[in-house]
Amino acid sequence: MFNRVTSFCRKVLNRDNKVREIDDLKLEIIPRQEHGISRKDISENALKVLYRLNKAGYEAYLVGGGVRDLLLETEPKDFDIATNATPDEVRKLFRNCRLVGRRFRLAHILFGRDVIEVATFRGHHSGEKSESKGDKNASQSQSNDGMLLRDNVYGTIDEDAQRRDFTVNALYYNIDDFSVRDYAGGVEDLKNRVIRLIGDPETRYREDPVRMLRAVRFAAKLNMEINAATAAPIPALAHLLRDIPSARLFEESLKLLQSGHGYDTYVMLREYNLFSPLFPILEEHFTEDRNSKCEQMMALVLKSTDERIATQQRINPAFMYAAMLWYPLETRAEEIAFESGLSYYDAFMVAANDILDEQVKSIAIPRRFTAMIRDIWQLQLRLSRRSGTRAYKLLEQQKFRAAYDFLDMRGNVEGGQLSELAQWWNDFQRADRDDRNDMVQVLNKASSTKKVRRRRKAKPRRRKPQSNQES
Ligand code: ATP
Ligand code: MG
Repeated sequence: MFNRVTSFCRKVLNRDNKVREIDDLKLEIIPRQEHGISRKDISENALKVLYRLNKAGYEAYLVGGGVRDLLLETEPKDFDIATNATPDEVRKLFRNCRLVGRRFRLAHILFGRDVIEVATFRGHHSGEKSESKGDKNASQSQSNDGMLLRDNVYGTIDEDAQRRDFTVNALYYNIDDFSVRDYAGGVEDLKNRVIRLIGDPETRYREDPVRMLRAVRFAAKLNMEINAATAAPIPALAHLLRDIPSARLFEESLKLLQSGHGYDTYVMLREYNLFSPLFPILEEHFTEDRNSKCEQMMALVLKSTDERIATQQRINPAFMYAAMLWYPLETRAEEIAFESGLSYYDAFMVAANDILDEQVKSIAIPRRFTAMIRDIWQLQLRLSRRSGTRAYKLLEQQKFRAAYDFLDMRGNVEGGQLSELAQWWNDFQRADRDDRNDMVQVLNKASSTKKVRRRRKAKPRRRKPQSNQES
């Protein structure tokens, strides 16, 4: 594909009529025969929307990741469309349309579970200047989800291109003549595998700090380098993420860690100081050699998530969060048990609340997931009690499989008794009825021997009147 890109770039640069300067951007129009995007690679639903807008006399472009990924010859995650039709005009054209977003209105065209997002070109706001969400004077000019309010003005495609984040995302596929409009040298950057912000990096990060996360996400996902000027301000500005609403960061955290390149993304996030604003609790569990139990668990859970995505297996955010926060939970539970004299079980439950309360301040994990995280955690305590009918009851628990998979990871990190326990559960699940009974019998015998021993030891104390009262 890159040969193709190189050749069409050279051709285009020689055609003056296809190159136009717009403020600090330079538009190149790449005709149909000189790029590799074919309509058969675009989803049927996206094509339907593009054609209907076009037939009604509006401009309609495929934009962003869809165009970028098609030029890279990878399958796009979704197809976003940009148009000069206003959201209301879009709604009039499609019965299956829903307008979303309170501030910046977007049209969602629904085809069963497939949603095609249609955005009206965004324009410049008058008196445009860079703002930081942390800057009190500027905060009023931003919406609840951290985007600038000036994004809510409609404009031309040229203005829209300037509002895009990276050069490789400012590529537009025109349904009218099947050309690609490249506003910021995105095709050249794709060829050189470079992630580069449009405009002044610090200004663009202060406008929207989430762009720092996006730079890392695209670099890891597309296996590209972040351009030096784009990368330079990130470590010093990473703290701006603390001002981003936690609901938006929840969505971003899934895109970062649950999109198939989670491990590489995590490593890069740490490199750029971007990880701790998202997971402040984990900071004190990281060590210089990057090999603490917590870090080993991070690597295990993220690599296994990546693998599951690669093999089209289901993934659940609750599992990932449960694993990431496990060692902070254990430490906190021990501290609480030590300080308060609560039983370990009670201290563990208090610690679970504490840890989740703290985590949702930065990343608003929805309740349906926090409930599941608690289940997976609580089951860890129960998995070691297997005698009598307990093991059978545990097998029937809805979250058993997740709890077992997590126990297995803990066994991998810690070895010893934990990995023996995980092995036992592994064998138990695979065993037939008779073998299962035998396995439990062995445990029953062992635990009754223990009880006898405990009783014998306890006898002398029972003679004391005080201990009798206690029992
Ligand atoms: P993905 O493959 O993950 O969907 P994408 O590039 O399509 O990647 P989206 O989040 O779907 O990313 O956004 C679509 C497009 O909207 C982007 O390509 C980019 O042009 C623009 N965009 C999204 N978020 C921002 C932002 N924070 N600042 C500027 N432009 C943005
Ligand atoms: Mg997209």
